[in-house]
Amino acid sequence: MSSEPPAENGGEPPSTATFRSLKEFRSAGRGFWADVAESDWNDWHWQLKNRITSLERLQRLMPTLTPEEIAGTQLANKKLAMAITPYFFNLIDAAVEHCPIRRQVIPRIEETHTASWEMSDPCGEDSHSPVPGLVHRYPDRVLFLVTDRCAAYCRYCTRSRLVSNASGYDFHPEFDRQIDYIRQHPEIRDVLLSGGDPLLFNDERLENLLSRLRAIPHVEFLRIGTRIPIFLPQRITPELCAMLKQFHPLFLSIHTNHPRELTTEVRAALGRLADAGIPLGNQSVLLKHVNDDAEVMKALTHKLLMCRVKPYYIYQCDLIAGSAHLRASVRKGIEIMQALRGHTTGYAVPQFVIDAPGGGGKVPVNPEYVLSHNADRVVIRNFEGKIFEYIEAAGSPPIYKPSENFPVPEWV
Ligand code: SF4
Repeated sequence: MSSEPPAENGGEPPSTATFRSLKEFRSAGRGFWADVAESDWNDWHWQLKNRITSLERLQRLMPTLTPEEIAGTQLANKKLAMAITPYFFNLIDAAVEHCPIRRQVIPRIEETHTASWEMSDPCGEDSHSPVPGLVHRYPDRVLFLVTDRCAAYCRYCTRSRLVSNASGYDFHPEFDRQIDYIRQHPEIRDVLLSGGDPLLFNDERLENLLSRLRAIPHVEFLRIGTRIPIFLPQRITPELCAMLKQFHPLFLSIHTNHPRELTTEVRAALGRLADAGIPLGNQSVLLKHVNDDAEVMKALTHKLLMCRVKPYYIYQCDLIAGSAHLRASVRKGIEIMQALRGHTTGYAVPQFVIDAPGGGGKVPVNPEYVLSHNADRVVIRNFEGKIFEYIEAAGSPPIYKPSENFPVPEWV
């Protein structure tokens, strides 16, 4: 029998205990808002009305703000506004400067430091915009920007030039022109609504827009990109879900970066969407001191699957002006992919991509698994580093083409 005293965590190695803790679903709780009526707290309008948007209020709630955060918040309304829902604020650990939730929504003075290679429109969206608010970058699909408002503002937002309108972009989408363009381009089969956050619209307005898009015969597939289930799960009402399910096939891409964002409230909201038959995917941005760690990313992807959400993309953070303090290295992203692929369920492994700066589109980035490839053989490496050889198929297979004189069979 061991004479060692039992460890406080029941004898688990610390990394296992941390991983288990990251995977737990907890409520965000009520924090400073314990006295607010339940009906108000669960009302998305109340949450929006009571967002933290000023330095004075933030300092009252969080006396541990650092000088960098105070200076950043003072300047935020000139670049990208600050807004944090009370619900999401409760996830911040005020005692930890580099709390992964805090870093995503509280401005820092480093946002004003820009390098010559950083851009205000790193994905070149404005140069691929045939009408205001519509980006036609890829042949068969368009990005349809519906609003410049979000429930809260992410400090690394790739569209920070326009969201919140703090820097005077003056975004005015014209739905009639956007819809006309789609109607006149039969090659567009996929429309992604984004912004800003489309789920900030009320049900009637969103239903009207989705109905108009669904009425275009060549639009096969609709998508909504949203961070509302994470910032404001109260918005995912049964009425919203019932309205959305009229427009299938309709997919939803959520955006979450750290496992602590997946609370019991978020799990319930995502469950309502999944029960409405809406396929759910997640996009994460690789961020320094937030999720640039294989265990954190693995816990996030496991929790997403438990919420019926497929981890879809991990984005290398775009070269957005003032984001250097939040950008993790591409090398770190590859290391994380290496730690996921083969080491956990394939469904839990997203695709790591870099959006090629200036508008080149998404480029997948993977660890090297193909070591060499010639006409006869492919040499590959598996997730354990073992080397294998695969003999190439001989010649090209014949391509099937139906004969023009294909006899019509007689029905019997
Ligand atoms: S929710 Fe999306 S659009 Fe809004 S600030 Fe965050 S990343 Fe940008």
